[in-house]
Amino acid sequence: MSSRGPRLVLIGKQGAGKGTQAVRVAESFGVMRLATGDLFRAAINEGTEIGIEAAAFINRGELVPDESVIDLVETHLVLEDRQKRGFVLDGFPRTQVQAEALDKFLGDFSLDVVVDLDVPTEIVLHRIAGRRVCEDCGANFHVDNPPKKNAFCDLCGGEVVQRADDTEDSVMRRLELYEIETLPVIQHYRRSGALGRVDGSQEADRVFSDLLDLVKSRFSARDH
Ligand code: AMP
Repeated sequence: MSSRGPRLVLIGKQGAGKGTQAVRVAESFGVMRLATGDLFRAAINEGTEIGIEAAAFINRGELVPDESVIDLVETHLVLEDRQKRGFVLDGFPRTQVQAEALDKFLGDFSLDVVVDLDVPTEIVLHRIAGRRVCEDCGANFHVDNPPKKNAFCDLCGGEVVQRADDTEDSVMRRLELYEIETLPVIQHYRRSGALGRVDGSQEADRVFSDLLDLVKSRFSARDH
């Protein structure tokens, strides 16, 4: 049996299903999930300095400056030695500068696979318009498929709300930034040979099974 889990990055537009799939895939391999958006939302709820700085960018749909995001990820990944044991990164890297920083601090522990969770824009727009999230654990719901107890999370009982940054202006700005800043990241990993694609427009269980097949094939092909 392998002594470590895969080192995996999930890339996709807002609403592509990264959060949902990252939780499932991290659980199935027993590795940590690091979601920069969740870390920022937690910092905002706690009113920390990082949270106050990030909120101004997040609510407008802008990206948080590279330096702050890189510091945050490095603290969680490198200082805790987790890059060796495997991880799922959800929402990072989102810019070329972040991708280069990640390559640098991973060093020899390079990524096993970077998954482009591909979903057409018209589908993500529908998903985001009805998206609701648990304030406590980050679980995702949709108005077409709400929690059983209306505004309370099925998983942890936390309050289920609309994200403050899911306004029309902010969503359009995030999609624009995806094209400008994140598509070059996909190119970066295509060039390095780490990129794989999963059709994220399918039903969630099907996406998960395709994702598992891709990760297993790339991971088992490498010398652990
Ligand atoms: P998410 O939950 O991944 O959609 O992230 C929510 C928001 O947090 C984004 O719209 C950005 O404002 C900010 N954010 C999360 N990850 C990053 C990142 N890697 N780089 C810059 N900003 C980020």
